[in-house]
Amino acid sequence: MPKYIMALDQGTTSSRSILFDHEGRIAAMAQKEFTQIYPQPGWVEHDPMEIWSSQFSTAMEVMAQLGVTAQDIAAIGITNQRETTILWDKNTGRPVYNAIVWQCRRTAPMIDRIVAEGYTDMIRGKTGLVPDAYFSASKIAWILDNIPGARKKAEDGELYFGNVDSWLIYNLTRHGVHVTDYTNASRTMLFNIHTLEWDEELLELFRIPRCILPEVRPSSEVYGHTDESVFGGQIPIAGAAGDQQAALFGQCCFAPGDVKNTYGTGCFLLMNTGKQAITSTNGLVTTIAASTSSDVEYALEGSVFVGGAVIQWLRDEMRMIRTAADSQEYAEHAEDTAGVYLVPAFAGMGAPYWDPYARGTIVGITRGCSKEHFIRAALESIAYQSADVIRAMENDAEVKLNTLKVDGGATANDFLVQFQADIIGAEVHRPSCIETTAMGAAYLAGLASGYWKSKEEIRRNWALGNRFTPKMEDEKRESLLKGWKRAVRCAIAWAADEEKEEQPKEQQE
Ligand code: ADP
Repeated sequence: MPKYIMALDQGTTSSRSILFDHEGRIAAMAQKEFTQIYPQPGWVEHDPMEIWSSQFSTAMEVMAQLGVTAQDIAAIGITNQRETTILWDKNTGRPVYNAIVWQCRRTAPMIDRIVAEGYTDMIRGKTGLVPDAYFSASKIAWILDNIPGARKKAEDGELYFGNVDSWLIYNLTRHGVHVTDYTNASRTMLFNIHTLEWDEELLELFRIPRCILPEVRPSSEVYGHTDESVFGGQIPIAGAAGDQQAALFGQCCFAPGDVKNTYGTGCFLLMNTGKQAITSTNGLVTTIAASTSSDVEYALEGSVFVGGAVIQWLRDEMRMIRTAADSQEYAEHAEDTAGVYLVPAFAGMGAPYWDPYARGTIVGITRGCSKEHFIRAALESIAYQSADVIRAMENDAEVKLNTLKVDGGATANDFLVQFQADIIGAEVHRPSCIETTAMGAAYLAGLASGYWKSKEEIRRNWALGNRFTPKMEDEKRESLLKGWKRAVRCAIAWAADEEKEEQPKEQQE
């Protein structure tokens, strides 16, 4: 039996490849950063050829590290930055334009028009998403409308659209297979997550010809094999999922009510809701979770825009710390924040507040406030914002969370994770392997190819690294949360107040 599963983890800033062994341990890993292209303020692009070449070279590198051949790899699983949009010529495999990255805001006016025309409920009902430039639909439309010849080629059936998973599979199979998985499809804003079909009405709204879309398949299934010329042998490509859904799977959140939070630049919380697609009344989105059957499962998703980024801000702009890791020592030097709250609403507030105008706010400063208090307040803000999203999930799903599984770069910070446990009053589990995204992709591929037999077998691989038990008294928690809410109100009121000042006097009255 082949020894390894290969995970291709194609992220926003780097491509990584990891070989996992049967116990779910990392046997080899390679990573390569690639160019971020900013053609105008608010626009973000990647070169699709560089995405492919960086991914391919890291895959070759891990094979070389262990001296293995294609025959030693049971299957490949893919996980990718979500929503990022690529259109390419299906005959030559050449992209017609750069990849438009999920962060890119160029299509915000198009979305504003669609919202003004009253399509929000229709979009929400079918796709589970809130209309936004973030998702793929408006990005595809932009390329078709702005790149000379693109629309004609699309209508003539000469173009293919794909998210990064599709793009990699197309290249791995040397132009043989054009597919995507349910999780990626559910982030395009063109896919009906209930009927599991591309939606005609949405395709019409965004003027997208159906023939450019990939076939949508389960997240754990053999889609095809790598072409002989790629790795010198045919490896089954047997799994794909968007990064956040892959992390949910990699954390073994298989049961309804299981929740994970990934603490990176932002925070991404996902709750498995099983066969039930729950429509949020608290500003969360409904999305398809990665599962092994064609009978899909759903998740509720909420994100915090500024998570670990507030620590980067302390390091790079405030210059209060030298490294992100230093923040822990400073925070632990202070017993509390001396009543200070920092609300890092640098670009508005997400769920459950949804206020794009809110701005960063610091409240409660007294003469005794020190750098230690300030840094502690910044770390605590990551946990408070996550707690707000968890509360929203509990309300939507009508369940009480008892354990939160965490991963991502900022979970290296024990203070942060302990404070998270304290402020939600629930246990927080940090696995020993925090590469959960790549692991999720490996598991999906390993299950489809028979490398692993069952989810139970995989669950046995999930090893707890640390358990953080809440130690805070209920009364203290309630009082801190009350203070946080007041601070958030200040962040929101700051912008709302300006609007009021700008309005003519009679309108204010
Ligand atoms: P991404 O995948 O979004 O790039 P990562 O999972 O690599 O994010 O995590 C990086 C983020 O985590 C950065 O924003 C950084 O400030 C934060 N971070 C890293 N280490 C620590 C730490 N020890 N304490 C607090 N934050 C940290």
